[in-house]
Amino acid sequence: MSNKRDYYEVLGIPKDADENQIKKAFWKLAKKYHPDVNKDDSEAEAKFKEANEAYEVLSDKEKRQRYDQFGHAGLEGNGFSGQGFGFDIDLEDLFSSIFGDLGFGGFGGRTSNRQGPIPGANLRYRMNLDFMEAAFGTEREIKIRKEDLCTTCNGHGTADGSEPPICETCNGAGQVMGVQRTVFGQVRTNQTCPSCQGSGRTIVDHCTKCKGSGRTMVNKRLNVTVPAGINEREMLTLSGEGEPGTQGAPYGDLYIEIHIKPHSVFSRQGNTTFSVVPITFAQAALGLEIIIPTIDGNESYKLKSGTQPGDVITLSNKGIPYINRPNMRGDHKVKVELEVPQNLNKEQSELLEKFEASMNADNYEKRNGFLDKLKNLFKDSKDSTK
Ligand SMILES: [Zn+2]
Ligand SMILES: [Zn+2]
Repeated sequence: MSNKRDYYEVLGIPKDADENQIKKAFWKLAKKYHPDVNKDDSEAEAKFKEANEAYEVLSDKEKRQRYDQFGHAGLEGNGFSGQGFGFDIDLEDLFSSIFGDLGFGGFGGRTSNRQGPIPGANLRYRMNLDFMEAAFGTEREIKIRKEDLCTTCNGHGTADGSEPPICETCNGAGQVMGVQRTVFGQVRTNQTCPSCQGSGRTIVDHCTKCKGSGRTMVNKRLNVTVPAGINEREMLTLSGEGEPGTQGAPYGDLYIEIHIKPHSVFSRQGNTTFSVVPITFAQAALGLEIIIPTIDGNESYKLKSGTQPGDVITLSNKGIPYINRPNMRGDHKVKVELEVPQNLNKEQSELLEKFEASMNADNYEKRNGFLDKLKNLFKDSKDSTK
């Protein structure tokens, strides 16, 4: 009945070979006999097909069991072609099972073309905000251009807007079995149905507006609520505002990526705001009142006397609000920058000279420490020259 060689013999493995042995044996033969290496070599091609068929059976638990019990006869008329071709190996499965396990790379992408309902594409929109808009939130109307279902035909693509009948070529599946030539010889793959282009429906009279595609480009206006406290590169998701899915699958989402323009006075790190305020020598020494700008407006603040250049003042709860926690805010940090007066007139100079002459050691903590250090330095160097 069958003049086929025994599958175990074909792969050169024992009857009790495990999955791994089967894979390895097949891989070895596939490499040796594959048609890309053996161009126009019918003997190699035959060996390749034989190995392919043996692999298909022995790697399938159920088929292998049937084969073990009944031999080649056990596989006939049971959904297995038995025509010397292992057609039923899906290329993608083959790649993942064989190449994945054996570390083989370089075959590139997927070959099978699975159709069916596919969720719509997600869209991305870049939103530029002013510093204050991000801090306190805002309402924005945005305009997007995207693909949407044709309103004339309700997305069906038909002239009367009705649901089109099921494609007879593919029975509505949107795909047909095709044969593809690969390094493994011919492998059966799913291909997009040529009659319906994968939609699974046949349209006789096309909608004139979308030409039967069921889709048109539309401009859409959307109102976006930007919450207070949003930060650079954060995303807002408008769910269902992406593109429509195929065959009734859901719409994708619209992602709004936030970008914040820099501010002339404030900077920000998380929920903390920062600014620099120039102060005068007298304000710092006497501890006078200064004006500190915050994102809420100007605030007067009494410096502590003896404030030093570079000191940082923290105003708590004056920074950026936390998203969805309106009563919680970060801090505002102010760095004071001492500005030394310039262009003194005669009177000012005399006053300052008089002032300087009145100063004593108690007035300058840092300077005294420094002078002491210098003294020690000279003493040390004198000692060393002795
Ligand atoms: Zn079809
Ligand atoms: Zn239409």
